[in-house]
Amino acid sequence: DAFRDLGETRSMCCYCGTGCGVLVQHAGGRILGVRGDPDHPANHGRLCTKGATLHLSAHEGGRVLRPMIRERREHELSPTSWEQALDTAAERFADIIERHGPDAVAFYVSGQLLTEDYYVFNKLARALVGTNNIDSNSRLCMSSAVAGYKATLGADSVPACYADIDEADHLLIAGANPAWAHPIVFRRIEAARERNPELTITVVDPRRTETASFADQHLQIAPGSDVLLFNAMLHVMLWEDLVDRDFIREHTEGFDALRASLAECSPGNVAQVCGVAAEKIVRAARSFGRARAALSMWCQGLNQSHHGTASNAALIHLHLATGQIGRPGAGPLSLTGQPNAMGGRETGAMASLLPGHRDPADPADRDEVARTWGVPALPDTPGLPAVQMFEALREGRLKAIWIACTNPAHSLPDQTRVREALRAAEFVVLQEAYQDTETADFADLLLPAASWGEKEGTVTNSERRVSRVQAAVSPPGEARADWRIATDFARRLGRRLERDIGGFGFASTAEIFAEHVALTAGRDCDMSGLSHAVLERNGPQQWPFRSGARCGVERLYADHAFPTPSGRARFAAVGHPSRHALLPEAQGARQPLILITGRLRDQWHGMSRTGKLARLWGHTPEAAVAMSPVDIVRRGLHAGQLVRVENPRGRIVLPLTEDDALAPGQVWIPMHWGETWLPGGAANRLCASLTDPVSHQPALKAAAVSVRPA
Ligand code: SF4
Repeated sequence: DAFRDLGETRSMCCYCGTGCGVLVQHAGGRILGVRGDPDHPANHGRLCTKGATLHLSAHEGGRVLRPMIRERREHELSPTSWEQALDTAAERFADIIERHGPDAVAFYVSGQLLTEDYYVFNKLARALVGTNNIDSNSRLCMSSAVAGYKATLGADSVPACYADIDEADHLLIAGANPAWAHPIVFRRIEAARERNPELTITVVDPRRTETASFADQHLQIAPGSDVLLFNAMLHVMLWEDLVDRDFIREHTEGFDALRASLAECSPGNVAQVCGVAAEKIVRAARSFGRARAALSMWCQGLNQSHHGTASNAALIHLHLATGQIGRPGAGPLSLTGQPNAMGGRETGAMASLLPGHRDPADPADRDEVARTWGVPALPDTPGLPAVQMFEALREGRLKAIWIACTNPAHSLPDQTRVREALRAAEFVVLQEAYQDTETADFADLLLPAASWGEKEGTVTNSERRVSRVQAAVSPPGEARADWRIATDFARRLGRRLERDIGGFGFASTAEIFAEHVALTAGRDCDMSGLSHAVLERNGPQQWPFRSGARCGVERLYADHAFPTPSGRARFAAVGHPSRHALLPEAQGARQPLILITGRLRDQWHGMSRTGKLARLWGHTPEAAVAMSPVDIVRRGLHAGQLVRVENPRGRIVLPLTEDDALAPGQVWIPMHWGETWLPGGAANRLCASLTDPVSHQPALKAAAVSVRPA
């Protein structure tokens, strides 16, 4: 009977930034199946193992079904009503704001939110509360790519698109393993190579991943040495005259200064530090420099670094030096980690942004947004990025935090300090779909949020494509859409603060989206021609999509006009890290090994969804630490034994596995396993809270550790 009235609702996969369209099959208020949307340009009906099992996790247990509250941290959470919960939240936030000022509170949101959710939270923080203390877990994901794009191209606009994979004759994939982390992008790479045997692929990664094994050339670099490697490639391109001098002269600036700094980056000079033979660097440079169309893709391996901005800029420099940008098959294409990290940036829901990619440090940008929001001014005190936000909480400079759809007690670096921060907070609100996340242990108020299949709005994927997400079923229990929770709270807080500015009376996500796109008019991410109705009628669209346009823009910078003051792209003077500071911390006698973190093929983030499905445990059935066979023998260890992986920040006990994909001196732990699964908690616990000075993205990819028998 359940299948008799099967309906299909158009939605999106809620996992990675590939942004695959799905059709959710449902009947009688229950989700019963899912299939890839054949009409969605990102996946053409395909789904990976995670996306294809979305429906199986839809009605799994562990959901937060009612608002829960506790008066003291040592008490258990107990159910309360929405009225009581939101009144309490408004009371506590208002009290703290009145006593300590608006910058004593913060909002920490998520790349899992839909664009409309993000928009409302940003307006709540900046216009109503009057603080720039709003940041997203996208800070952990894409902020170095944002900073790299802005430093070189002048705006956070991804130039290339997925169709370029089909047009390229060279792919440079760095610090990414799309075979596991963006599988549908990888299927497209496989198909492109099948069609075009001339397509060459270079992969840069400390591990021999599945993507690296597929490549023509794998540069197994020492962790953190990517800037030196890219600079050495550029050195070769200059030496062998593989650069496009006309393009450099007519469309860029800053090349001479960069060229001077490249002198010391000959392949011979960097080979030892990078751990890559000079001949391989030369070959990689020739593959890129001689290509008719070279496309680069990258992800957290470049971004999650204390020099992530420099890494991103150094990679984009290769495109600028060769003119490989703005034409079919050529350009930089950063792979977004989370499904809607890009939507969050468009709405400006990060400490370093305002709506429409505006700058909170720019008075004119603040005034424009303030006028739209009907407030006299927006705050000018810089907001706190994620890691600094939790440090301020720990030190008592922040008193209250509202966390939406993310699990910082799992994902932020140096977990001991993050937990101290959450314990020190006067008031913690957690808006979540799942009750068993590590952060829930610290919540004074736990608010039930709707989840995948139950929410509607829009998301933007890695190639700037905005897609409509429709709700297939109602949320369970008393769970509500994230934007509704934020607006209900905003109205109460406004009354309590006697700052009832209006602007939170949205009746639908379509209204929120309309206000959001109006604020993008004239900006690089202009989507003023989009509405929910246009997306439903015409399908997913890439921005810019200006008012009156019939379609979006597939590929940016075809006219070689860049959004910088001079109109030229920039060879950014970001320099390169010292050879002694490639890693966030030095190895030593006590911590002689480098931990590198990564992802599994069939799990997602903290596994609150994927971890509940037996089918997804087949690929990697248990947590383990991987080590090269050379190190295992050298240290008198053996595969299968329990070992302690530790440094002064923490200790994780795991079984040891042998993995010849790793170079000696390195160990590898997936980032998924948190305290719910593993004594000692997530791999990120062992990472230092060092951040990039420009992007403020934490260096979550590497840490110095020791490995000893447990
Ligand atoms: Fe979902 Fe990413 Fe897999 Fe597509 S590739 S189905 S978006 S997890």
